[in-house]
Amino acid sequence: MKTDRIHNFNAGPAALPLPVLEAIQESFLNFAGSGMSITEISHRSKWFEAVINDAVARVKRILKLDSRHHVLFVQGGASLQFCMLPMNLLKAGDTADYVNTGTWSTKAIKEATLQGKSINVAASSEDRNFSYIPREIAFNTDAVYAHITSNNTIKGTQWAQFPSTGGVPIAADMSSDIFSRPLEMDKFGLIYAGAQKNIGPAGVCLVIIRDDLLARTPVNIPTMLRYSTYAEKNSMYNTPPCFAIYTVQLVLKWLEETVGGLDKMAELNRKKAGLLYDCMDASGFYRGTAEKESRSLMNVTFRLPSEDLEKDFVAEAAQNGMGGLKGHRSVGGCRASIYNPTPLTAVEALVDFMKTFERRHG
Ligand code: PMP
Repeated sequence: MKTDRIHNFNAGPAALPLPVLEAIQESFLNFAGSGMSITEISHRSKWFEAVINDAVARVKRILKLDSRHHVLFVQGGASLQFCMLPMNLLKAGDTADYVNTGTWSTKAIKEATLQGKSINVAASSEDRNFSYIPREIAFNTDAVYAHITSNNTIKGTQWAQFPSTGGVPIAADMSSDIFSRPLEMDKFGLIYAGAQKNIGPAGVCLVIIRDDLLARTPVNIPTMLRYSTYAEKNSMYNTPPCFAIYTVQLVLKWLEETVGGLDKMAELNRKKAGLLYDCMDASGFYRGTAEKESRSLMNVTFRLPSEDLEKDFVAEAAQNGMGGLKGHRSVGGCRASIYNPTPLTAVEALVDFMKTFERRHG
């Protein structure tokens, strides 16, 4: 690690792989011999077309997608998908299931409800403060889709296995764990993920949608809010967020060529999270907030014995070159976000610091 860079545990925007940042720096003024920056070239140029095509090809290869799947880059963040998903997929008389596992699921439910869509909350973990992932859910087999949030960034819970929905396609908000593990794509009809945690900078949202769902959009949906507009125009109906897509392309290249794909990535992610959870479980000082079987491998949330100690912990960590450890403002406590790009060495440094802090304050 370069000495002027810290160990970054931010929840999003979050750490990017150092080789990706260096590649951007290296080519920033003269991209691919064009004599222009990536931020200056036309999205219709051969240079940008190569970038977006390569990014799409990598998404397809990494997730083993087939010809039924379309890879789209949309602006408006994951939050716009809360609204676009029911807008495109649910006509009058259609229903969808939602599982409520925290803030982001609640917002997804709100946006469907605002549009007067018929949705059914099939399960919720609100009864225990969203500290777990519900099991044995009775999904409605007539639903058009079943929506889940695969990783709950704020509460630190994650679906370890995806639910059986009786053949209903899962629509998943994977903003905070996309590409962190292999996926059985047969289960999913639609996946969306804001880029700014696992795959790039803020400004673009990756959407993967299957043919049969793409065909459902009612005719009166505005052009920019229709999935088919993005599918038909290779995400370039209008000017796309070129720089964000370029960074996503570089992160995917890093994932394929340096990490070695999703199996390797998942192994590394299990190792990183394991170090932190083992440290917490061995101490009577740090207390994990998620139930054990539902723990996230991406966002490790924990409390210390008092709020004062939590403040000291975050401040001392910062003095020791570790940032982003404050929990989300809605829940307090501490959170270490350890997405794909976070190196093992950063987690090891954090565990060392946690042990030292406990010895001094415990
Ligand atoms: N879903 C999840 C799981 C998230 O973590 C976030 C952002 N933290 C969002 C949705 C909202 O994403 P955006 O800010 O890109 O709209």
